[in-house]
Amino acid sequence: MANTPLDPEVQEWLDFDRQHLWHPYTSASEPLPCYPFKSATGTRIQLHSGESLVDGMSSWWCAIHGYNHPHLNDALKKQAEIASHVMFGGLTHEPAARLGKRLLDVSPPDMQHLFLADSGSVSVEVAIKMAAQYYQATGLKDKGRLLALRNGYHGDTAGAMAVCDPVTGMHSLFTHLLPGHLFAPQPRCRFGDDWDPKDFTPMRRLLEQHHHELCAVIVEPIVQGAGGIWFYHPNYLVELRRACDELDVLLIYDEIATGFGRTGKLFAWEWAGAQPDIMTVGKALTGGYLTLAATLTSKKVAQGISQGGPLMHGPTFMGNPLACAVANASLDLLEQGDWQQQVSWLEQALQEGLEPCAGLDICAETRVCGAIGAVELKSSVDVAAAQAYFVRCGAWIRPFGKLIYLMPPYICSQQDIDTLCEAIFGYLQTS
Ligand SMILES: *Cc1c(COP(=O)(O)O)cnc(C)c1O
Repeated sequence: MANTPLDPEVQEWLDFDRQHLWHPYTSASEPLPCYPFKSATGTRIQLHSGESLVDGMSSWWCAIHGYNHPHLNDALKKQAEIASHVMFGGLTHEPAARLGKRLLDVSPPDMQHLFLADSGSVSVEVAIKMAAQYYQATGLKDKGRLLALRNGYHGDTAGAMAVCDPVTGMHSLFTHLLPGHLFAPQPRCRFGDDWDPKDFTPMRRLLEQHHHELCAVIVEPIVQGAGGIWFYHPNYLVELRRACDELDVLLIYDEIATGFGRTGKLFAWEWAGAQPDIMTVGKALTGGYLTLAATLTSKKVAQGISQGGPLMHGPTFMGNPLACAVANASLDLLEQGDWQQQVSWLEQALQEGLEPCAGLDICAETRVCGAIGAVELKSSVDVAAAQAYFVRCGAWIRPFGKLIYLMPPYICSQQDIDTLCEAIFGYLQTS
């Protein structure tokens, strides 16, 4: 079944793609190889070359229910018959209003207003604008900078990039574009360990020194995703909330990667119980079907901004009805299904499956939180070689830096997890 010769037509567009299309973070002249995707169902990705791969990535953490889900397909088809898109300026529709209500129902109780953005990065831009406009409108006009965490990731547009880790975010390429925000060290006290109050000291110090010029602190709660798959202690957020209140700085949680059950709670803030002033969600919001995100905020922030005028953002595809309809359908599946049990089962299965890797010399450690499993190596992974090996094993896994990680769809079976974990172990053994 695997590795059948490619149809000449497929070869043709594959060659064109290689010569002309940019893929994420690749060179136009020396691109990393791309595999020809044919279709996907459930947890499986089919290639034109014949392989059937277990998806270990959920298409960058989005496809939590798997691919080609009848309920999500239905929602999309029904909405397409009504209207795929209409402008959100001056018009509104049931899919957007219903989604708004449902999102507020499941988010921190303080969240009372929301903005529907067209991607995660844009929702972060909107979050930053909300914080900046809030202090402009309420008269503290010096408060325009942000404080973020090292090893954080918040998106690739300029404003979002400016709060990503300065090293992995390659800030050196964009010095003239970036406003120069502040960064606190990565929290080192781990999720599951005893809380060490000293872990918060550097953040506390930065807040005390700079609060007069800060509009917000932005963090990914509990799990730092694309910046290093790192899990930190909930008490860090409790301390952060307290310090932000004391020093009048807004707190933004970026739940784009952590939202919709991935860490074992519907949203990661629940581990700490400390609410944000502004929160972003995206990625799994539509179950991986379409690009959609949202920025949620409190009555206090929304009313503060409004004293100064309108919130200054409005994308062309804002509130896209197709995306809202499929997001509502994805929320149906979360409401009706047993994601909590699936995620806690996955946590156990990933722990067991990745454990053998920890004994290998080239492995620094393995770590698991909810339906997220990571193997950290002592040196960087050769992505092309690793992927070629994984594909031969029937696994779709995309490593980065020193990390080989898994964020599988919640519907994975034991056999799926075995395939993924054995592929990783096999690769590490041979390399
Ligand atoms: C992926 C991600 C983003 C950016 O979302 P896009 O939809 O890719 O723009 C922002 N923040 C976090 C935490 C993410 O994981």
